Amino acid sequence: MLARTFLIVVLAKLTSACIEELLDRPDASEYGYTVFNGPATWGEKFKMCNGYRQSPVELDKEECHKMRFPKINFLGHADERDGGFRIHNTFQSVSVEFSGEQPVLQGGPLGSNFTFSQMHFHWGRYGATKGSEHQIKDLEHAMEAHLVHFNSKYADLRQAAEHWDGLAIISLLFTETKEDSEELSPLVRRLKRIRRGDSYALVESGAMTWLEKYLDGRYLTYWGSLTTPPCNEVVTWIVLENTVEIGWRQVSHFLF
Ligand SMILES: [Zn+2]
Repeated sequence: MLARTFLIVVLAKLTSACIEELLDRPDASEYGYTVFNGPATWGEKFKMCNGYRQSPVELDKEECHKMRFPKINFLGHADERDGGFRIHNTFQSVSVEFSGEQPVLQGGPLGSNFTFSQMHFHWGRYGATKGSEHQIKDLEHAMEAHLVHFNSKYADLRQAAEHWDGLAIISLLFTETKEDSEELSPLVRRLKRIRRGDSYALVESGAMTWLEKYLDGRYLTYWGSLTTPPCNEVVTWIVLENTVEIGWRQVSHFLF
């Protein structure tokens, strides 16, 4: 199998807004993003948020250690799915659930197989035009998508989140463009159906095939955490170097 170069880095913790739709989160009133309840205060209630491996981080390729790992295998992520996809307005994000057999992630820096759980998006909030969680040397991106996986040796996401090798999250960064992206259009145009909190809509079977061309190439990886309380330090982050182009009008469809 062709070896891929990747970069590994752990740098300073950022305090940007960040939401993980992974687990039964603490009640929304227990933390937030204002000066009174923002990331700088999370550690008071959630000890893990004061840890040394907190995500997201600022990534600087010049400070990375270059290493070689086997190719990462993405099994089923970009497939057409007969049952399509279900999108959900979770109040704090939009998540995408895949019908049928779940994709599997293997290889690269991962010691075992990881089962796909869901994908969700981060975008600018409170008037911010940039909403990526990770920054690559000061550069924020318009959006970021997280493909969340749990280690297949555990029963489910909840159990996996209690173990240091529990989760692997693929991060895809989005660059804003003038023109709309045709490939993202089937997904984006469905967003108007879930403007109400906790609403769902179905998306057609080929809506995620665009992932195919981005799930390859170089990446940056580090061991970090969930980016919201309880901040468990259980995530192998894999931030892909390929960025996805998205039209600025399409980004605006996420702003709700
Ligand atoms: Zn996330």
